[in-house]
This record gives sequence, C-alpha cells and structure tokens, in this order.
Amino acid sequence: MKYLASVALVAMAATPAFADHHEKDWNFGDGTTPERWSTINTDYAICDAGLNQSPIDLGSPNARGDVELTTNFGNSTGTIELGTEKVQVNFPEGFGMNSGGKEFNLIQVHFHTPSEHAISGERYPLVAHFVHATNEGELGVLGVMFEEGEANDALGEIVSGVGEGKGASVEFDINDMVPDDLEVFRYMGSLTTPPCSEGVNWHVADTTLTASAEQIAAMEANLGPSARSLQPLGSRLLVAPSE
Ligand SMILES: [Zn+2]
Repeated sequence: MKYLASVALVAMAATPAFADHHEKDWNFGDGTTPERWSTINTDYAICDAGLNQSPIDLGSPNARGDVELTTNFGNSTGTIELGTEKVQVNFPEGFGMNSGGKEFNLIQVHFHTPSEHAISGERYPLVAHFVHATNEGELGVLGVMFEEGEANDALGEIVSGVGEGKGASVEFDINDMVPDDLEVFRYMGSLTTPPCSEGVNWHVADTTLTASAEQIAAMEANLGPSARSLQPLGSRLLVAPSE
C-alpha cells in the first residue's frame, strides 16, 4: 500500500494540473487587467513570459477545419472539490476524449464565471473546463460555455453537491454538459491558473449550452470573478470549425 501511495504521489507531481498541494498564493483579478502572477512567485514566471498562454479571444481564427474529436462520456459519480475560486468535480477513471487520434483521460471538470475564452470580445456567464491528460501526462482541455436560459440537469446536480460541501458525491450524465454536435476551436495554450504550464491542447466548443439564472448565480456565488485576462494569440495556429 505504501509503495502504491508513493507512486501515485510521483505521478501527481509530474502533472501540472495537480500541482495544488501548496497553499494558494494567487488570485484572479478583474479579468481584464494583466494579473502579473510572475511577481507573486518565481515558479509562475511563464505566466507573464510565455508566448503560448490561455485564455485567448477565439474570434480571429487563422485556419478552418473540422478537428476529429470524439468523447466517451456517460453517467458518472463524481466527487465535489471546493476551494478559493474553485468549484470542481473529480471523476473516476474510464472517461475521456480522443482528439486527432490522441487519447486523453478525463480527470475533472471545473468552472469559471465568466467564461475565460471570449468570442469576438464576448464572454459568456459560465464555462465548464473538462481537464484531461494522456497516459504520458500531456494535458487536453475541453471548454463548454453556458449562457442564461433553460436549466442544465448536470449543473443542477453539481450545484446541489456544492451546497453539501467538499467531498459530496454527485451523479450526472457528463454528456448533459457537452453540445450534441461537438465542433471546436483548437489551439495550443496553457493552464489559465498558475503555474500557467504550456503544452495544453485546448478545445473550446463553438456551440453554447444554457444554464438557469439560479444555476449561474450559484456558481458565481461560489467562484466570484474567476476568469484570467485574455492573452495574445501571437504566431499560434487557431483552428475554427469549417463553415
Ligand atoms: Zn479552467
């Protein structure tokens, strides 16, 4: 058991998404002003020096094409994880996405209010980020934006679970939080939170889903402003779905 535990710890340390064991020493700002996280901790240097940072405005793609993306999402029991500016559901193994032939395992979904990526300057009130990693530790995220409208069943379960507190068990169909016709913007970026590690395979659905005003308000109450400022696309490739 002890051996297995230490193996698990090593695996977690190797994956930036899990580098969460130290006390949180950074915060989101107003979403517009550069956060300058590198001035807080030298471990966050790439947040300001990196040329491949996220989020970005998706409104000016420089390529069009239909990215091959499939998911095997389904009904799942997840565990609520809460923290400052953090609402997250951790998933058991077994779900994932295949992007361009590469297999990514689903680890967790977390939320931001408002959405971090923008489309032609517009941000949506809520976004879900489905964080994945390959067996080798390469990260891949699928973002789905929500606008106000009809309630979302899965979000309803998650909001109830958040009310029960950290560690609460929630059951929902992950597919409820993913558009049926999944077409995505695709580019290479970073984690949007320190340490802002690059090499993240970003996918953002071009179709929004709806959440009720109450569901959005509940997420806002738990998260507060939790979107990083927009980062320059620079010389990166940004592929949008073909028209
Ligand atoms: Zn995120």
